[in-house]
Amino acid sequence: MRLLLIGPPGCGKGTQAVRLAEHYGVEHISSGDLLRRHVAERTSIGRAAERCMSRGDLVPDGVVMDILRRPVEAAAKRGGYILDGFPRTVQQAESAYLVAKALGASVRIALFLQVSRPELIRRLLDRGARDGRTDDTAEVVNHRLDVFGQLTEPLLDYYSGRETLITVDGDRPVDEVTRSAISQLGAALQHRAGRIEQIG
Ligand code: ADP
Repeated sequence: MRLLLIGPPGCGKGTQAVRLAEHYGVEHISSGDLLRRHVAERTSIGRAAERCMSRGDLVPDGVVMDILRRPVEAAAKRGGYILDGFPRTVQQAESAYLVAKALGASVRIALFLQVSRPELIRRLLDRGARDGRTDDTAEVVNHRLDVFGQLTEPLLDYYSGRETLITVDGDRPVDEVTRSAISQLGAALQHRAGRIEQIG
């Protein structure tokens, strides 16, 4: 299973990624978590990324590729991954495609977790009050949602033309979202297996 999870900030990607990784027995790789670890450890990548992250801007594509390449390659060899938060731009998706192709691992599924903007704002401000994540303040949250619309949403068109794209309604209780994701993924995998048999 090689799954890309796409969704706006606050849609519950991280929560669902952990659950799906457990269900399919593959690794969960979160670009945001890896970046936050660099920030906490004050590495040179962390120092460069921190400014972008606290403003709600994306970290440059090259930096993200550098920190993800090794974990993704290792996970691909061990049977797969759930990628959470990457790719986030069409440019990142194109680089990821080339890396995956070189590994002979280019067939993937993209899952879009859809949640309405008012619900996203509510969840993110709640999380900011609870966990103190510095990018979960009203101003930064709105900016992150705008960045998502401008840079990440175009990925949906990109993937619907190339790979299997599934849209899951994330505006429901966590367990329901997980159940629906697993059932839609099952159907998509079956459909694809059928198609490959027909071609073969
Ligand atoms: P959220 O989806 O809630 O914004 P993440 O933990 O996925 O949270 O990301 C937090 C921040 O980390 C982003 O606002 C961005 O600055 C940076 N980031 C994470 N993944 C990427 C990526 N693939 N490309 C560029 N920046 C990223």
